[in-house]
Amino acid sequence: MNAKRIAVVTGGTTGLGAAITLALLEQGRTVVATYYPGDLNACEALPEWSVRMKEAGHDVFIFPVDVTDPASCEALIARVNTEVGVPLILVNNAGITRDAPLHKMTFAQWNAVIMTNLNSFFTMTRPVIEGMRAAKWGRIVSISSVNGEKGQFGQANYAAAKAGIIAATKSVAAENAKYGVTVNAVAPGYIATDMVMAIKEEVRTKIVEGVPVGRLGEPSEIGRVVQFLTSDDAGLITGSTIDANGGLYYR
Ligand code: NAD
Repeated sequence: MNAKRIAVVTGGTTGLGAAITLALLEQGRTVVATYYPGDLNACEALPEWSVRMKEAGHDVFIFPVDVTDPASCEALIARVNTEVGVPLILVNNAGITRDAPLHKMTFAQWNAVIMTNLNSFFTMTRPVIEGMRAAKWGRIVSISSVNGEKGQFGQANYAAAKAGIIAATKSVAAENAKYGVTVNAVAPGYIATDMVMAIKEEVRTKIVEGVPVGRLGEPSEIGRVVQFLTSDDAGLITGSTIDANGGLYYR
């Protein structure tokens, strides 16, 4: 096994992405964590996060990308190839929400979510897939959502994008199985990230009451799932979506 394989994690400096970055670093991977210059909160938190990673002795590169822009993704992967090496692990984690019931949703809200959460599967996977096929080894994991499986009030855009990830995952898994490249998705439920912790406490309490395990998930629990799916041990798992939702929904 080559632990030093290079992984790219989109949105890998915040929330679930940061936990995934850390889990892959702990596994001995070299990680390129991307940030989005258009996300001012993420950019503000970046220097402190990067110092913490370096102080912990982690081998992490921090490069910008806009996953809605194919040219930006191609430029990112060209830079990774030149400055770091050929990435054989891709985690499509970047995502946004623009919630509204459909009768009030604007096309801009619909489109931003489809571009960021679904088109990114294409824009990021396309520039790395040839390298993985050539190496006869690769791991692609995309972060879907329980709401892509069950639908959610106010999230027609988000649910459609996250369901699309699951279908694209199955298709690309079939295309690449012969080449040692596995393609999977993870569908988290409610995880204790800043986004979820910002929900009013009484609303959060109600959400937790509806989760059979009786608690929110920890970001590290999603990191561990991705760590396993990207390991050599997971070579038989492809085209799958792993639910990590505390029993909230079964397919
Ligand atoms: P987050 O806001 O911390 O992470 C999203 C990341 O994507 C940020 O770093 C952001 O800068 C980046 N991003 C946004 N637009 C981008 C763009 N155009 N180009 C590149 N990067 C961009 O939120 P999170 O909760 O950590 O979410 C991470 C992923 O997990 C998302 O795909 C989200 O839909 C999914 N998810 C989260 C939960 C949860 O409970 N937090 C549950 C299910 C699924």
